[in-house]
Amino acid sequence: MLRRKFLKKTLSGVPAVLLSSTLLAACDESEGPDKAPNGKSVLVIGAGIAGLAAAVQLKKEGFQVTVIEAQEKVGGRLRTDRSLGVPFDEGASWIHGPKGNPITDLAEKAKAKTFLTDDDSLLVYDGKGKAISDSVLDREYAAYEDALEAVTAKGTQNQSFEAVFNGLYPDRTKDALWKYMLSAYLEFDTGSDISELSSTDFDDDELFKGEDLIITNGYDTIAEYLAKGLTVKLNERVNTIDYSGAKVKVSSNKGNYEADYCLITVPLGVLKKEVINFNPTLPNNKRQAIAGTKMSAVNKFLLTFPSVFWDNNLQYVGFTPETKGKFNYFMNCKKFMPANALMTFAFGNYGKLTETMSDAAVIAEIMAQLKTIYGNNIPNPQAMLRTKWSSNPNAYGSYSFPTNGRRSADFDVLAQAVNNKLFFAGEHTQREYRGTVHGAYLSGLREADKIADL
Ligand SMILES: Cc1cc2nc3c(=O)[nH]c(=O)nc-3n(C[C@H](O)[C@H](O)[C@H](O)COP(=O)(O)OP(=O)(O)OC[C@H]3O[C@@H](n4cnc5c(N)ncnc54)[C@H](O)[C@@H]3O)c2cc1C
Repeated sequence: MLRRKFLKKTLSGVPAVLLSSTLLAACDESEGPDKAPNGKSVLVIGAGIAGLAAAVQLKKEGFQVTVIEAQEKVGGRLRTDRSLGVPFDEGASWIHGPKGNPITDLAEKAKAKTFLTDDDSLLVYDGKGKAISDSVLDREYAAYEDALEAVTAKGTQNQSFEAVFNGLYPDRTKDALWKYMLSAYLEFDTGSDISELSSTDFDDDELFKGEDLIITNGYDTIAEYLAKGLTVKLNERVNTIDYSGAKVKVSSNKGNYEADYCLITVPLGVLKKEVINFNPTLPNNKRQAIAGTKMSAVNKFLLTFPSVFWDNNLQYVGFTPETKGKFNYFMNCKKFMPANALMTFAFGNYGKLTETMSDAAVIAEIMAQLKTIYGNNIPNPQAMLRTKWSSNPNAYGSYSFPTNGRRSADFDVLAQAVNNKLFFAGEHTQREYRGTVHGAYLSGLREADKIADL
């Protein structure tokens, strides 16, 4: 989708940081036989793609590996709900920039099915339901790209994106099309609300090339593939990690474990909530980095209808409501799944607000916007599935972003090992690819390498 397309005017698809040859070699090694046991053990906390990638790699290296996962299944933010008969991916849907992206290869091995998205297949409607012409969209979009650069140039460390933007463009702040672009593009991409987003560091991550692919049979296919042959303890929520002695001791609601090393891949939101007690407490710089980076809410809603009433040729439909972040973007799922389904999104502060709304209230708001575009005679949805990422105890947020007052170097600190016993992986530790599946995956391989090198 749109998510990774609407930043990076200058970098446009060129990853400035090339993947290290060690990491690429590690990707290949996961194919070969396991080495002989090396007598060392690792506890991996969290069975998202970061934890699973590391566990596979460490097992290959001869470590005794146990993965401890709070949920009833593996995958974390690769979580697919099939209760409506079609896969609804609650977290990731897209492979952003499939060329050179390690997830493309992994998806093929896992037999995940993909659909090539067409970002240009988009029509945006104004608040009265009138389609905005391509020439206006192109003009405003070019101005939007310039505005991103102007905010970066003008911003200071303590200012949020919104503060700098409002100062530079007081008229655009109230403009519905601008609210749409700042939300459906920028807040979706960064996983932030722009009022909390760093004005200087919001756009310093990297991209792979190529039009995005969407996984059509469920992103969890990839997690299930990686988990084959691993020892994973499900339904166990870790609450204590004691690294004061020679071995690391880990306790969950169900039992106690010990190992030579512990790799912590729980989401940043879980670290911020201090769900896990560390003994001794984590070093100051690590605690400051946890406090200084943030997670916001990108929430997803899948609605199924008795018939298609939208333009079925289109991939995406945009809408420009007065409220920023409010169901401003629809994906036509009929393009790649056997259902009359639309997926919509809520971003930033509105994304969080939806978590306090009933299903009926959410449906009423979504339908009001669809009726503005397609008229009052459209059918009501038959069913809806939704997410509540900021209150979800397994993540407490959708993905990480740099906030004002801090620098994105915090993401490097989040990746630092402590005493060569505690290691950290997860999307929030891979600064150049944060907030993505490939970022999380690469972070797992990176930490497996670090442990194997000790
Ligand atoms: C709405 C949404 C849309 C997204 N869209 C895309 C997309 O299209 N493309 C893309 O590339 N990326 C996307 N992402 C980001 C991507 O999903 C994540 O970056 C990636 O999946 C994170 O993997 P991870 O292993 O770091 O964390 P997770 O997958 O969150 O894994 C962490 C694991 O830790 C477990 N855990 C938490 N607490 C404990 C505990 N106390 N004890 C034991 N286990 C615990 C969790 O249950 C979880 O399984 C999206 C994310 C969201 C939320």
